[in-house]
Amino acid sequence: MIGSDNDAMGVAILAWLALVALLGLGNTVGYHRLLTHRAFVAKPVVRGAFTLLGAVTGGSPVLWVGLHRLHHARSDGEGDPHSPREDGFAWAHAGWLIGVRSPVVVAIFALSGFGQQGMIALHDLRRVLGRNPPTWRELCGDLMREPLMRALDTPGVMPALFVAQVALAWAVGGGWGVLWLWGVHVYLTNSSWAVNSVCHWPAFGRQPRATGDDSRDVPWMALFTLGESWHNAHHRHPRSARHGLDGGFDPSWRVIQGLCAAGWAEKPWLPKEPGLPSRVPPEPVSRSAP
Ligand SMILES: [Zn+2]
Ligand SMILES: [Zn+2]
Repeated sequence: MIGSDNDAMGVAILAWLALVALLGLGNTVGYHRLLTHRAFVAKPVVRGAFTLLGAVTGGSPVLWVGLHRLHHARSDGEGDPHSPREDGFAWAHAGWLIGVRSPVVVAIFALSGFGQQGMIALHDLRRVLGRNPPTWRELCGDLMREPLMRALDTPGVMPALFVAQVALAWAVGGGWGVLWLWGVHVYLTNSSWAVNSVCHWPAFGRQPRATGDDSRDVPWMALFTLGESWHNAHHRHPRSARHGLDGGFDPSWRVIQGLCAAGWAEKPWLPKEPGLPSRVPPEPVSRSAP
């Protein structure tokens, strides 16, 4: 009996790790590098698959891509939806989603796991009531030409997908199943938000490239974010399919390479001179210095 309990626990842990990796890649390879930045070209079925994986925790692709394109357009300046520069770390992490700067409230929201799904449902409700004219939707004209993106962006579809997840988790594992799903959402939302907070916070990492914003490369976050924490390199070359430009751990890039090798994707965009030419120039030496 104890042995079978241990077996079930082992299967649950392995399934959790596999799902987190798969859905995480849906966010990093799919929503971020493919849909937002067009870093490579994928066959329609691959594009669709990564989009669906990203949608499980990230909400509508139009919602995610629009907000992220706005972040790059206004990075750490007026209009950036989640810069920590003026509003603090907690705001940049998840406070911006609920309009709160209190670290305690943001921590509770971040650990709620399903809080983001509630905000997505609220967002859809506002759209239905005609009370949400977000300007960032105008940044997604390319996505709105695709039937799948329009379907996923239809109000109510994302909340229905979430309800289906909870129902499936309950059917498979009851309360433990829902707790397992909660863990998936807690991990994936926070690893994605940490790129906005930790990788724009001056206390962490380094900024080897001139970008005009506060974006940082944070090596210890590379595993948890599947390579997204080379964020200074990303802001310097947003379209690059590879974020670990200096050889840093970047599993999302390895997946893109694998997709290209298999013939499922092509044309990964890479900056021509990722090295010295894009680095911060050295301070000029003052002639009057001793
Ligand atoms: Zn950023
Ligand atoms: Zn980006």
